[in-house]
Amino acid sequence: MSFTISDKSKLVDRRPMTFKDKIYLPAILGGLKVTLGHILKKKATINYPEVKREFSSTFRGLHILNKDEENRERCTACGLCALSCPAEAITMESAERKPGEEHLYREEKYAAKYEINMLRCIFCGLCEEACPKDAIYLTQTFAPANYDRKGFIYKKEDLLIPNK
Ligand code: SF4
Ligand code: SF4
Repeated sequence: MSFTISDKSKLVDRRPMTFKDKIYLPAILGGLKVTLGHILKKKATINYPEVKREFSSTFRGLHILNKDEENRERCTACGLCALSCPAEAITMESAERKPGEEHLYREEKYAAKYEINMLRCIFCGLCEEACPKDAIYLTQTFAPANYDRKGFIYKKEDLLIPNK
């Protein structure tokens, strides 16, 4: 695509360089003055990941799926968290508990598959609010960097923690 300017009188003439501009020294000294002015000031940055910032107590980060005091999964795959999620980040598949699995799953249904796509999640906490079983919580940990998009899909095994 090419542009033409019909009225050349509207163009602003470039200011001719002065002797001071041409030797660059005042500009270099001006830049050094700014650098030196900041050298002794408190740094605004931190050496992450060696140093981590303290988050506010209301910070919402990565999710966990809770187990109960007998180490059984609390989640019943009711789907309320997925339904309340504005980013449609949660997917799950439910399954029926079989006889003999009472020590694994607290109720008759459980999530055979449970996934959260952290690239979609906006960490609003609505899933936590919606859960009737105290199964899902947002922690103060944030999603670490990853090399591909699949690494941001957290599966049930990544989210489950021992009873809390
Ligand atoms: S924190 Fe919000 S966006 Fe993230 S999974 Fe829960 S409901 Fe969805
Ligand atoms: S985490 Fe809670 S709201 Fe979500 S499916 Fe499990 S029991 Fe239901």
